Amino acid sequence: MADKEKRVPENVPGPYYVDNSCISCQLCNDRAPDHFRMNENNMNSYVYKQPETDSEIRNCEEALSSCPASAIGNDG
Ligand code: SF4
Repeated sequence: MADKEKRVPENVPGPYYVDNSCISCQLCNDRAPDHFRMNENNMNSYVYKQPETDSEIRNCEEALSSCPASAIGNDG
């Protein structure tokens, strides 16, 4: 389970975040490319845009439940 105390610094403020257990598999970037990106040195993903619409929330929830490292959290 993701730990909000271990959020990576690149996350934008808001309920969804990536923590430092990310293994850089890029699955969330594929599942929800409008919300997750890899950081500059490809060490971890981060949330660069919080979801707003129901469809965007669904995409982020799918990324959250698919993450093999359980590194995505929803603090909302
Ligand atoms: S799916 Fe999880 S482990 Fe893979 S890049 Fe995204 S946050 Fe990191």
